[in-house]
Amino acid sequence: MMNTQLTVFSLLERAERYFPKKHVVSRTHSGIRRLSYAEIGKRTRRLSSALEKLGVKRGDRVGTLAWNDHRHLEAYFAIPGMGAVLHTINIRLSLEHLTYIIQNAEDKVLLIDEGLVTLIEKIKDDIPSVKAFVILTDRNQLPETTLEPAYHYETLVSEGNENYEYPTDIDENESAGMCYTSATTGNPKGVLYTHRSIVLHSMTVGLADTLALSESDVAMPVVPMFHVNAWGLPFSAAWFGTTQVLPGPHFTPKVLAELIDNERVTITAGVPTIWLGLLNELESGNYDTQSLRAIVCGGSAAPKGLIRKYEEKYNIPFIHAYGMTETSPVATVSRLKSYQQDLSYEEKLEIRSKQGLLVPGLEAKIVNHQGEVKWDGKEMGELLLRGPWIADSYYKEPEKTAEAVKEGWLHTGDIATIDEEGTIKLVDRTKDLVKSGGEWISSVDLENALMAHEAVFEAAVIAVPHPRWQERPVAAVVLKEDAKDKVTKDDLLDFLAPQFANWWLPDDVIFMEELPKTSVGKFLKRELRDQLQDRSVE
Ligand code: ADP
Repeated sequence: MMNTQLTVFSLLERAERYFPKKHVVSRTHSGIRRLSYAEIGKRTRRLSSALEKLGVKRGDRVGTLAWNDHRHLEAYFAIPGMGAVLHTINIRLSLEHLTYIIQNAEDKVLLIDEGLVTLIEKIKDDIPSVKAFVILTDRNQLPETTLEPAYHYETLVSEGNENYEYPTDIDENESAGMCYTSATTGNPKGVLYTHRSIVLHSMTVGLADTLALSESDVAMPVVPMFHVNAWGLPFSAAWFGTTQVLPGPHFTPKVLAELIDNERVTITAGVPTIWLGLLNELESGNYDTQSLRAIVCGGSAAPKGLIRKYEEKYNIPFIHAYGMTETSPVATVSRLKSYQQDLSYEEKLEIRSKQGLLVPGLEAKIVNHQGEVKWDGKEMGELLLRGPWIADSYYKEPEKTAEAVKEGWLHTGDIATIDEEGTIKLVDRTKDLVKSGGEWISSVDLENALMAHEAVFEAAVIAVPHPRWQERPVAAVVLKEDAKDKVTKDDLLDFLAPQFANWWLPDDVIFMEELPKTSVGKFLKRELRDQLQDRSVE
């Protein structure tokens, strides 16, 4: 067979050629804009020619600090298209981490949303690799800034060449993208995606038994384009000619509900905290969400209660998926097998709330000190992954690479079980497991059970030191507004008691106003542990 190269720009090229009339709906600072793929294609070519004039060469890293909008989408194709590396930067990182990753990646140019300019002004003297700052703005001129040299994105695009020719000799194994892990511990680590890995991952997103993304969908990635490429959706959607709805800066649950209603969104994707927020909005407002065929939920475990609420009350199917920065990210998707369709709703929910089956193209094994675990849904071990869109190294980090990638397998740091059907269930992250008297307690199982209580808005369970048992679980709970002062610790423990062995039950339940979260909306257990360290129970 022909050995043609899989390259990122070919995805947009297909949208330009076959779907020029299909649209990207982009919510910007100044309102909604609609651009056809034909326009996006031309603007993307103009952007590439402009970046070339600014000195960007093959292999250079170009950083983006941007929301989910059409300009960010153009950068998604313009940068890898010319053979440079699209480095999406998580805008919610601390200044220290932002500085670290721009230095580590040695970004040559930064594309910065106008709302984030002041952030970068604070660190401009510490990022000498950056030779040009391009400001993404709806205004017709450059906003005031101390960044230098600064350029106005729209001027660059309007002066660019819409017939720019992309290099045709890009090897599919060249780097196309780059993303740093969100650093729940230590400094962020850089993962490089290749043209090949992005294309193969994009294809997977379209498979019928994964997300089944197709031309007829209207896809709204809520998961940020600055974090693991919005789970690859912008790439796949362009390739398939799917309409994209990009929710832009500072969106609220109301904005999302309105976009779903107005744009007839069929599939959307994000972390559970987004869907918790949207649920509250749907309960208080009057929205038509019948167009939705799937809410894709990943990044943290999808609580069963959340899935049930969406499905029973709003008739919106949930698809639970798992992955990480290092896995591009889609690694497992929870779908029922045909012969499981006849099970009761409860049994099906039980299966679907697991992380699911490995997607085609990847290999997995779950190992503990005794070797590979039994397929009994009980024995726990670390999940190891291998495949064409699994990272084999961290950028410039030989030591961290050696810790994570051994004998060709990525050690995910996630503890999992696998049942007789091959369904993977994540039990915890290695560092979040509660190790009580030599046994393991899954903080995630306890959290999910607590979040199924009608009075609980959010719950996180952490390990606190214990003199006899080494560690014991303690729950931090945020109650719903109308349940405050009405529900006690004992009410919650009584609720958990029938569901778990006695020694699994938290030693304490601490009510909080809010839980600390990471930059991508996951519970920040490290900070919670610091806050609750003195809760050590006798
Ligand atoms: P970071 O590793 O920096 O926290 P990632 O977004 O790459 O950032 O997070 C990946 C981790 O998120 C996984 O290793 C896993 O622990 C967790 N995760 C992702 N999806 C799920 C899921 N569906 N259920 C439970 N945990 C998940």
